[in-house]
Amino acid sequence: MLVTSYDSFTVIVSILVAMLASFTALDMAGRVASSTGKVALVWLFGGGFAMGVGIWAMHFIGMLSMSVDMVMSYDPTLTVTSMVVAVLASVFALWLVCSTPTLPWPRLCGGALVLGSGVVAMHYTGMAALMFAPGITWNWGWVAASVAIALVASGAALWLAFNLREGHGRVTVLRLGASVVMGCAIAGMHYTGMAAANFPMHSHATQMGVNSNWLAIVVTVVTLAILGITLLVSMLDARLQARTSILAHSLAEANRELAQLALHDNLTRLPNRILLEDRLEQALNKANREKSQFALMFMDLDGFKAVNDAFGHHVGDNLLIGVTERMTEQMKGHYTLARMGGDEFVLLLEIDDPNDAAAVADTLVKAVDRPFDISRYELVVSLSIGIAVYPGDGKDERELMFNADAAMYHTKNNGRNGYTFFQPSMNTLAQSQLQLNNDLWQALDNEELRLFYQPKYCAPSGPILGFEALLRWQHPSRGLLAPDAFLPMAEKTGMIINIGNWVINEACRQLRSWHLQGHPHWSVAVNLSALQFEQNNLVETVTEALAQHQIPAELLTLEVTETTAMRDPEESVRILTELTNMGVKASIDDFGTGYSSLLYLKRLPASELKIDRAFVNELQAHSEDATIVSAIVALAQSLHLKVVAEGVETQDQQAFLTGLGCDTLQGYLLGKPVPPERIAELPNFYEEVLELERMP
Ligand code: C2E
Ligand code: CA
Ligand code: CA
Repeated sequence: MLVTSYDSFTVIVSILVAMLASFTALDMAGRVASSTGKVALVWLFGGGFAMGVGIWAMHFIGMLSMSVDMVMSYDPTLTVTSMVVAVLASVFALWLVCSTPTLPWPRLCGGALVLGSGVVAMHYTGMAALMFAPGITWNWGWVAASVAIALVASGAALWLAFNLREGHGRVTVLRLGASVVMGCAIAGMHYTGMAAANFPMHSHATQMGVNSNWLAIVVTVVTLAILGITLLVSMLDARLQARTSILAHSLAEANRELAQLALHDNLTRLPNRILLEDRLEQALNKANREKSQFALMFMDLDGFKAVNDAFGHHVGDNLLIGVTERMTEQMKGHYTLARMGGDEFVLLLEIDDPNDAAAVADTLVKAVDRPFDISRYELVVSLSIGIAVYPGDGKDERELMFNADAAMYHTKNNGRNGYTFFQPSMNTLAQSQLQLNNDLWQALDNEELRLFYQPKYCAPSGPILGFEALLRWQHPSRGLLAPDAFLPMAEKTGMIINIGNWVINEACRQLRSWHLQGHPHWSVAVNLSALQFEQNNLVETVTEALAQHQIPAELLTLEVTETTAMRDPEESVRILTELTNMGVKASIDDFGTGYSSLLYLKRLPASELKIDRAFVNELQAHSEDATIVSAIVALAQSLHLKVVAEGVETQDQQAFLTGLGCDTLQGYLLGKPVPPERIAELPNFYEEVLELERMP
């Protein structure tokens, strides 16, 4: 046997190369794991290549460190083959570690077997590349030991690589430690394998192969360069990735903020319709799962539009914020209060019993019912609520919303400022509204509209001064309908313009006929809606009607509510001035229910002010209403307006109002609205005639 000895410097270099290769391997595993697609593939093959070259170089340098008393040379084909085996084994190992989220024992053992075999194959192919005769004699015990070490080291390496593949900071230190262990294991395998080889005496090189002295240097330098470059690129990529991840993080943050904005109402910060729909879906799922209940409440502010029209959007917005605060103050437990836009809110509430919903609705109605102090004004609005309870009142989102809405309209129709639970009959109501709307289009053509006339008496009881024309609809199947049943609809659809023009003309026609029947002093009053007021040919319509029926302009009164006039104050003043210049009279209707400023009132060319029947209705001497009414009368007198009290139902009211100085009285006590053919039945009807007869 030839004496073999090792050059200790080269041995150390080989071990260092093994450690560096191990570190590269661990780093590559991290790189592949944190990339995707093509990039991951580049890292898998690039990294596997660098790693394989590293392991191979360790082995090759280790062989070079051995000095035998003969000149060594290598077969280039087998040498290259051994390197290819190392690279393939490395790529396989990297792929194995990074292709699964978990690494169970069977998979780890299989991997260790393949990788270990690869390392063993590389080693012994490399040894076979040694070209000398008669060849190595093997110590099979050492060979077995080297194979065992290769398998165990491969398993350990795979396990470490898998567990250290992700993470930041501390993981680098762990990887360094792990690569020292792995490096030693690989070197251990190699030198055990070397110990298995015995070189017989008189061995001699068979061929002039590649010479070893300069090979050691070339292989070391090239390997170090490959490993170094790989690590450098890897580190740069890691940095880039870290920066990208910071960027991605802030992007995600920005996205979350955007979502917050997109899901909330800007003004009140309440959830908006989109978020509500989402919560509603969750509530439905939860209720189905747990067999529980929830309530959906549709809420609408009564009188909000009047505030917006009279004071502008700024005040309206602040009022909405105030209302929102009042409502949220009252809420506790699991709920979503959302704003649907305008003055519409929806409350989604988990309940154990419908009574819970009633209690919450009641507190909300009461909370909103107190006046709001906003920008120096005291504003009054109220809340109308409709409640639908799941599962009883609807099986899905759409049906619940629809039914809660229907219930809310019911509240509105029943005097507002309260709440109503949904009932199936309400749906039929909604449906019949739709039908009514269709019918209304025909009503004018079919001549189904009528005017009733309510007398206005000189206080306290006569004579009759004139009539207020009040619209009725003689519906073919539903009978006689009051304006409340169809006018809101006509306003919404714009039909009110045609209807309103018809009213003006018909009232003038009727008045002309009374004039001809011997009542030439009677006047007639017609109500104008806001939409008519905004229509540009109102003046023309009125002029034509007066001319056609030969009515003196001063015998026609146009009743305009404060709210109507306040919608566009400048324009209202302009139109009314134009009309009053012609001689037509203007009357401020429903006075006391809207918001008009005194200054504005002075500019309106009205000659009459009608105290709303709500004040008159509850009128008793010394009551709060009595104070208000006497203040209104005083105000009207100072503005030189005639005062009309409407809704007079009792003799007490009649006496009291007369005492206060009201000029004209109107109400059921003195005469209900009647069709024109029945006016002769009105009380004191003939008084005017008598009065005229008394005149000289
Ligand atoms: P309004 O102008 O305030 O009309 C007075 C309403 O009070 C009438 O109701 C009348 O029947 C009712 N009323 C009169 N005296 C009494 C009373 O002593 N007690 C009570 N409780 N009520 C009394 P109606 O006819 O149902 O009209 C309701 C509203 O419909 C009117 O209120 C008016 O704003 C509107 N309206 C009626 N006709 C027309 C019309 O031709 N055009 C427009 N744009 N609106 C109309
Ligand atoms: Ca009126
Ligand atoms: Ca009125």
